[in-house]
Amino acid sequence: MRFELIVLGSSAAVPALGRHCSGQLLCLESSNVLFDCGEATQQQLQRTGESPGRLDLILITHLHGDHYFGLPGLLTSMALAGRKAPLVIVSPPGLRDRMAVLLEYDKYAPPFNIDFIEIHCEEPTVLIDLPAFTVTGFPLDHRIKTNGYLLREKQRPANILPEKIKEFSIPYKQIPGIKAGDSFLTNDGRTIPHEELTRPASPPRAFAYCSDTLFKPELAKVIRGVDLLYHEATFLHEDLEKALKTNHSTALQAGEMASLAKTKQLLIGHFSARYHDLEPLRMEAAEKFRNTHLARELYHYPVALRRANHQEH
Ligand SMILES: [Zn+2]
Ligand SMILES: [Zn+2]
Repeated sequence: MRFELIVLGSSAAVPALGRHCSGQLLCLESSNVLFDCGEATQQQLQRTGESPGRLDLILITHLHGDHYFGLPGLLTSMALAGRKAPLVIVSPPGLRDRMAVLLEYDKYAPPFNIDFIEIHCEEPTVLIDLPAFTVTGFPLDHRIKTNGYLLREKQRPANILPEKIKEFSIPYKQIPGIKAGDSFLTNDGRTIPHEELTRPASPPRAFAYCSDTLFKPELAKVIRGVDLLYHEATFLHEDLEKALKTNHSTALQAGEMASLAKTKQLLIGHFSARYHDLEPLRMEAAEKFRNTHLARELYHYPVALRRANHQEH
């Protein structure tokens, strides 16, 4: 069951030093989800080898150009490729009008439906609810209206134990019900409880995306326990004043957030073009949260399924 992030862009504000503007692709079993779409995102997508057809949801954090200027190009390419499948784009208000102007001038208007969901989340709000996962938007603290996003898998049904199917001759059509929580009644009238017939499914995995924002400790409770946190770390802490002035975070603060939220893994990105060497940013965040990695472009960051602990019993 795939759940892996591919970093497309890790640069703040401007592409620099071989780094691109913001874009992260989360590859799931059934589809791919794009977080932000800065300039050159579509070229980076091509480099991943991932099919654009798998992409059906785009989540834009805010309307600073480094987070959405790649969108007109990507949409136009999808149109030229003959895409028919609908696309959902979530963003703070204003994106639909900006895109409409561009796409109107373009003779290749998309032959597919784009469902714009424009919202600035003032509190955590479920925006997308699909069979496989939900997306919750939450407010970040930036210079303009900005959403963070939390994508969480849905709880999978329990796994039925093959030996129990055999032992109790469980009819095939009763298996979905048992996986979902039913007990089984044998021919001789015994009730076999769900727990005896199944093994709990792996816990749902979650990814949180926090870019761009001031350090916001109260976010910890929204993103608590996520498997993978992408948090911006535009500056080193010695440049805290610049971070405060531009509503960004430092690497130390990103580490602090991962630690407060008890996340399992932290990925820092949105690096200022002033830093050639990124290792000091990683080391600084790692002071607060050991399992910190730099967002390296075109690197894959998979999240493995964890074994369910047996507290459910
Ligand atoms: Zn930015
Ligand atoms: Zn910004």
